[in-house]
Amino acid sequence: MNSIGKQVLNALKGEINEIDYQRYIKQLTYDETESKSNLAIFRVPNALIANWIRTKFADKIAHLFEIKTNIKPTVSILIQASSAPTSAQNTTTPLNMERPSGSLLNPSYTFQNFVVGDSNNFAFIAAKNVSEKPGVVYNPLFIYGGVGLGKTHLMQSVGNVMLSQGKTVIYTSVEQFLNDFTRHLSNRTMDRFKDKYRKCDLLLIDDIQFLSNKNQIQEEFFHTFDALRNENKQIIITSDKPPKKIGGLEERLKSRFESGLVADIQPPELETKIEIIKKKCEINRVKLDREVINYVATIIENNTREIEGILSKLNAYSQLMGVDITIEFARNVLKEQMAEKRSNITTDLIMETVAKELNIKPSEIRSKSRNSNIVYARRIAIYLSRSLTPNSMPQLAQYFGMKDHTAVSHTMKKIQELMKNDEDFRVKIEELSNKVSVATPE
Ligand code: ADP
Ligand code: MG
Repeated sequence: MNSIGKQVLNALKGEINEIDYQRYIKQLTYDETESKSNLAIFRVPNALIANWIRTKFADKIAHLFEIKTNIKPTVSILIQASSAPTSAQNTTTPLNMERPSGSLLNPSYTFQNFVVGDSNNFAFIAAKNVSEKPGVVYNPLFIYGGVGLGKTHLMQSVGNVMLSQGKTVIYTSVEQFLNDFTRHLSNRTMDRFKDKYRKCDLLLIDDIQFLSNKNQIQEEFFHTFDALRNENKQIIITSDKPPKKIGGLEERLKSRFESGLVADIQPPELETKIEIIKKKCEINRVKLDREVINYVATIIENNTREIEGILSKLNAYSQLMGVDITIEFARNVLKEQMAEKRSNITTDLIMETVAKELNIKPSEIRSKSRNSNIVYARRIAIYLSRSLTPNSMPQLAQYFGMKDHTAVSHTMKKIQELMKNDEDFRVKIEELSNKVSVATPE
């Protein structure tokens, strides 16, 4: 007699196509000893297959158990203990996106590979000018902005230009600088430390906010800074905040940081995100069509770094399965990612987010106002609430002060129609719905 797990897998074989069965389901082993009536455990050789089965087949498997035993178990797909765990990222050739290690520059961080939009135009031009006239125009150049907005990319673009001209470039973090300092101090080789940092043509210090409250290294950095600037050697600094706002930093350093040019980078607009994705696809030879690119652009929040993870995930899955990346495929692969973001969404949160986006007050959305902006916002909020929360139409009608559920249903139809006919509007709605998904209540 076959174990219940085997019976279920046999039944599944009849329900899915042969290729899926051979590729994935055949690799499943039912764990008879660990499973219980309400918990079915299967093991697979690697994480990639595990993820795929979880998203695509776990529901079906649970359902087949239910048919046979009357109990719908939780289906758990685990990686075989014997095999080393692998992830989507490292089962395929890594994309050309690694961050630099040591003081090496990432060769793909160039001006050509940097997408310019309103959000980063100022910092881009400043960096470009510096690369053309290092040590002359703005010294130091101080670039600040949120995580993943391209600060490291920009500063290294200057580095790559100067490197190609045979100049000496040092790229370092506060931590590396500190480690280096401590090592040379204890080896009594401080002269070599000074040679290294004070005799370069370009010093790039990434994420300077970590200097905060580290007094000894602030002192050393101060002298390094002055030595370089007196020789007209270029310094570029990045930080997550402007100099003024870095706590635990000596005043004299703050004023030095402000003495050149301070340039900020803002979160990218949707168009810029789309262009960045295209650029990354081009560099890494990943083929995505327009629809998928738009979709990915709406999934990522402001942190552009997410793009790389998403692209390598899509690429890994599509290589493994030998299929093209269609929009359905992308949605499926990225479903888990979205699902995680989507728990905890409430109508209040949706209202707040939509109001903020459209520059109106949250209370206006629920008012009786017929002002066209407010009506527009209200419709979108209703649509998102219906799509992203478990609220019923009558509940939503009550919440948004509408006559009854038919008014909600009417609104849903209107928005769906608009989305079908207007690509820009659909992208806008998807973007909003992702904004809501990552928003946290105030
Ligand atoms: P930060 O240092 O601000 O945290 P990074 O420079 O590390 O951000 O950028 C994160 C990723 O996003 C990098 O792969 C970078 O190439 C990419 N990126 C960010 N902004 C842009 C842009 N405007 N054009 C092209 N790539 C970008
Ligand atoms: Mg950085």
